[in-house]
Amino acid sequence: GKGAAMVTAVAYRLAEQHRQIDQTLSEFRLSTEQLLEVKKRMRTEIENGLSRSTQDIATVKMLPTFVRSTPDGSEYGDFLALDLGGTNFRVLLVKIRSGKRRSVEMHNKIYAIPLEVMQGTGEELFDHIVHCISDFLDYMGMKNARLPMGFTFSFPCKQTSLDAGILVTWTKGFKATDCEGEDVVGLLREAIKRREEFDLDVVAIVNDTVGTMMTCAYEEPTCEVGLIAGTGSNACYMEEMRNIEMIEGDEGQMCVNMEWGAFGDNGCLDDFRTDYDRAVDEFSLNPGKQRYEKMCSGMYLGEIVRNILIDLTKRGFLFRGQISETLKTRGIFETKFLSQIESDRLALLQVRSILQHLGLDSTCDDSIIVKEVCGAVSCRAAQLCGAGMAAVVDKIRENRGLDHLDITIGVDGTLYKLHPHFSGIMHQTVEELAPQCNVNFLLSEDGSGKGAALITAVGCRLRQELNG
Ligand code: BGC
Ligand code: MG
Repeated sequence: GKGAAMVTAVAYRLAEQHRQIDQTLSEFRLSTEQLLEVKKRMRTEIENGLSRSTQDIATVKMLPTFVRSTPDGSEYGDFLALDLGGTNFRVLLVKIRSGKRRSVEMHNKIYAIPLEVMQGTGEELFDHIVHCISDFLDYMGMKNARLPMGFTFSFPCKQTSLDAGILVTWTKGFKATDCEGEDVVGLLREAIKRREEFDLDVVAIVNDTVGTMMTCAYEEPTCEVGLIAGTGSNACYMEEMRNIEMIEGDEGQMCVNMEWGAFGDNGCLDDFRTDYDRAVDEFSLNPGKQRYEKMCSGMYLGEIVRNILIDLTKRGFLFRGQISETLKTRGIFETKFLSQIESDRLALLQVRSILQHLGLDSTCDDSIIVKEVCGAVSCRAAQLCGAGMAAVVDKIRENRGLDHLDITIGVDGTLYKLHPHFSGIMHQTVEELAPQCNVNFLLSEDGSGKGAALITAVGCRLRQELNG
């Protein structure tokens, strides 16, 4: 009868709706073949970044860091460290003891960087940083100590020595004027002078990936790779000097800051990017740049999700077809919310309450779909990141002419630490795509600050040796 026909029509509509949602999300599902292709293209870009003839146009810049070895336990002293460019801005005091009672003791304070400072003038930004250092020195009661300092600056920098780095381009949420093309250590020193209050001895500028690798290597000598899966995405590793054509000398190794976030900026990932990725890129602070990072890192995953949700809502599959003001708001889905939504321990009712908290009124069906969308986006992120990592560890293995490589990767970042599935999927992907490598992932405890101090310790020792 009529009733049965209506039930059939509703069932048909739901099935069709489900099919269309699934089709949308299928663009995010990558096969092993596709992931192997990503790995291969990453390898090509690595070679381009390392070769003198292609370095100019290379997107993955493979920046030399002037860090030539991992720690050996002999590092010691008291150091200041700055950590700028991750989720928090921090100033730290790090005390490293060597010998039998090896230890690292840290004190740190987190400071806010207001949006208008992140995106204001360079002078304002560095004055603010120095203001925070001043506050920290007061707080610790050590204004007159003049400790050596390591500056963890988590942006691409062209280094000419351990203590000089020219900012190539801002990434993530930063866009302060008059900094790109400038030596960041110089900008910091000038701001310290302007304040006329205390003196600092900046010994090293350090990328967060390098700090993370060094921190993990301090505990585990097989650690020769650093990975950040957080607000941004990047990796570093110990490369053979003979392969780094931009630096004189063939002996030994040097850590290379890959800046792999820019992978794809020459269009080589376009066949994997979706319209949602393109929309996120277009409305970002740096359109066309950091395309791989925009598919892999915490700052952008929520935005991809939001774009999909808007589209599904427009098509009438979500939120009763109503696009709320909240859903139009950029940046609402922070990593911590994505992580909560995808947590397996959460009942759907709790997913709804998270959405409610964000100002999104959802039905039970909505919450199922939202969770599916989040899952598709974060799974692709973890797989893409794993494909990049597979290229790196296989490169190291080949560098050493080995059939099999045991290696440790030091990891840090909010996405890796907070997300319930990201790390697992990433590990599994590396295992599948680089079967000749046995990869051990080591979570860095407070990598950026500790690592900067370790590098500063080595820098101080080298300086003393040079001065006789
Ligand atoms: C920066 C890298 C950094 C990464 C993780 C990227 O946006 O370009 O230098 O290592 O974020 O913080
Ligand atoms: Mg960090």
